Amino acid sequence: MRIPIIAGNWKMNKTKDEAVDFIYRINREVPNSAKVETVIFAQSPYLKTLVKRQGDYLQIGAQNMHYEDNGAYTGEISPVVVKSLGVTYILIGHSERKIYYNETDETVNLKLQAAFRNSLKAIVCVGESLKDREGNKTTAVITKQVESALKGITAKQVENVVLAYEPIWAIGTGKTATTSIANDTCGVIRSVIEKLYSLEVANKVRIQYGGSVKPSNIKQLMAEEQIDGVLVGGASLNSEDFLQLIYYQN
Ligand code: 13P
Repeated sequence: MRIPIIAGNWKMNKTKDEAVDFIYRINREVPNSAKVETVIFAQSPYLKTLVKRQGDYLQIGAQNMHYEDNGAYTGEISPVVVKSLGVTYILIGHSERKIYYNETDETVNLKLQAAFRNSLKAIVCVGESLKDREGNKTTAVITKQVESALKGITAKQVENVVLAYEPIWAIGTGKTATTSIANDTCGVIRSVIEKLYSLEVANKVRIQYGGSVKPSNIKQLMAEEQIDGVLVGGASLNSEDFLQLIYYQN
């Protein structure tokens, strides 16, 4: 059974005080018995302040890190340091990092290896552009991204990776993929994992959908067979909306 995973990606939003208020509120209102796993990806400078205290429900993740443990990489953040802050998750390969900061399929793979080396759980993003989709290239593009990301990753390791399908054209645009597009493409990801490993392994891996997810559409998305969670940008910034996302089953 795949436990649903609801993740919020705050991107470059929220001051430290706003972030602390939000995290405390969620931890106060959501019991540890909640039926879903939940992670917030926040800005690095205040991760340590937000990190899960013993008994807290919410997990905290970093939005990026370098793939080397240390070295001459001015301005970058080491995976060793990320781990030492007490965060549990790392977000890898978000399309905004590919578009603005030269993230490539190769660096995604190196970062995933760095995550395992440093005992961080990873959410790896994949997704096609509008041009890819309109040119019927979605399956080919997604297949290549998944294959590259998982190069050298063992079957045992991949069971603990979460893949996030985020079509670039649906991010921050208000255009959610239809449930059938989201489900079918998450299915493509699962079949690539099956081909690379086995059906048994593929059935254990959790796959999220991300792109304009909000309280009004989460239920339909989560009802789809291939969708095991959501990665949410805009709607994760408001604690009221985020609580509704966590409680989508109610
Ligand atoms: P939106 O939910 O704002 O479309 O952002 C999605 C996203 O990029 C999450 O990583």
